[in-house]
Amino acid sequence: MLVSKSYAVSLLGLAGTVIEIEAEISSNLPNFVLVGLPDASLSESKDRVRSAANNSGFALPGRRITVNLSPASVPKHGSGFDLAIAVAVLAASGELNAKSVSDWVHLGELGLDGSLRPIGGILPSLLVAQQAGFSQAVVPKANLAEAQLVAGLRVVGADCLAEVAELHGAEHKKTERRFSVRSGPANKQVELMPELDVSDVIGQDVAVQALTVAAAGGHHLLMVGPPGAGKTMLAERLPGLLPDLQMTEALETTAVMSISSRRRQPGASLNGLLVRPPFEAPHHTSSVSSLVGGGLGVPRPGLISLANHGVLFLDEAPEFSQPVLEALRQPLESGEVLVNRSSGSARFPARFQLVLAANPCPCGKSHGRAAECKCTSQQKIKYSSKLSGPLLDRIDIRLLIEPANPAQIAMAREGSGARQTSKELRQVVLAARQRSGARLAQTPWALNAQVPGPYLRRNMSIEPSSRLALDRMLELGKLSMRGYDRCLRLAWTLADLEAEDRPSKDHIARASFLRGADNPMEAR
Ligand SMILES: [Zn+2]
Repeated sequence: MLVSKSYAVSLLGLAGTVIEIEAEISSNLPNFVLVGLPDASLSESKDRVRSAANNSGFALPGRRITVNLSPASVPKHGSGFDLAIAVAVLAASGELNAKSVSDWVHLGELGLDGSLRPIGGILPSLLVAQQAGFSQAVVPKANLAEAQLVAGLRVVGADCLAEVAELHGAEHKKTERRFSVRSGPANKQVELMPELDVSDVIGQDVAVQALTVAAAGGHHLLMVGPPGAGKTMLAERLPGLLPDLQMTEALETTAVMSISSRRRQPGASLNGLLVRPPFEAPHHTSSVSSLVGGGLGVPRPGLISLANHGVLFLDEAPEFSQPVLEALRQPLESGEVLVNRSSGSARFPARFQLVLAANPCPCGKSHGRAAECKCTSQQKIKYSSKLSGPLLDRIDIRLLIEPANPAQIAMAREGSGARQTSKELRQVVLAARQRSGARLAQTPWALNAQVPGPYLRRNMSIEPSSRLALDRMLELGKLSMRGYDRCLRLAWTLADLEAEDRPSKDHIARASFLRGADNPMEAR
């Protein structure tokens, strides 16, 4: 009786468990048995392993092969265990060096021809393996760049089972030595899409300033304006104003991307670290599960987690279903989301900056003199009320966007040499963030938008003379306490952007403007 061991990783969300794979060959009747809570796709692994081994020049013994995956209590799913099962079986049958096989973590799906195919979740899986004490791993070559992101781990990328067998001492079949050994961290950096520049935006200076404030303080933003006013154009340019992700943020964002179904398409493996903030713009017909996460059996991250450390843009926000808008509240509060599925629940990060855009009314024509709008007042009330309440409470900046008029466009064209680029504004944003970061160093928060009202009022003092007008509005009931707090947060960000130690009267006046009406759609 021969027993050998190999190791792989089972993921649930971004967390995971190292799975020990034991293969035993006994003299019973020929059979291939897989035990230890495999799901359907993992059960099919037997057939893939048998064909792959045959086509790589190894004949599996005509005896009983038992493969046990433990701990048995951890659900295991998918085809990423193929390689680990294959090398354990080949080691048990004496084809490979059993000691060598058990020293490495093996991840990858096998094709029937013995080729090694990329899988999703390489980055989070290897982080789990490293934490469990492993120092070397074999991955499909197509996943190599992503695997190299794990600092201090020795990684081998292989194209086929025969290459991996050679690594573990298989001698009878000399393949051309094609695998490449590398270790991280990789310094290759990847951007998902070319970033759009704010200098393309013409005649919307106020809106660009508001975007800069949003970027500097991490403030959520609502833009109300007619179709064609440039709301989408502005929203798409917010990521370009945000600084590069820090290392921990970049790894987290890359890991979420790695396990998302979008990236699990064949060949769609990552080839580097995501260093720029992501941008996600779901359509208003999106379901709750596509936004917050879901999946069949196995929990998968939704778009709000793909937007982690980046921007989530909901165009025509009042058209989103009420359950979708409701589902955003909890992640906005906690920065993460819990996804429950039959095989377990997983926690995904969801710390995104929210940008909402809305038309002034259902038909979108009630701007300017509003002559063409045919909406009834009831329709308007119903439309605007969809965004009321707790969701709007989280949004500091509420802006009315009017289409740029021909005079503004002409003026902007003449002075186009002076318009600031995204890269220039990003430096201003970074400097402002450094100021707020230093001021909030002893607190759990880093950005002004995260600071709760009581702390803001008690611990971050502003000259009474500067906030006189604001205090007066609060006393007269013209401003709610929440509205008051939003003004203070924005005033601090404006002060940070101008490198002032404290908000002035002018900062507070401008903050009041950016804060806008409680519901800008109702204010019209
Ligand atoms: Zn209308």
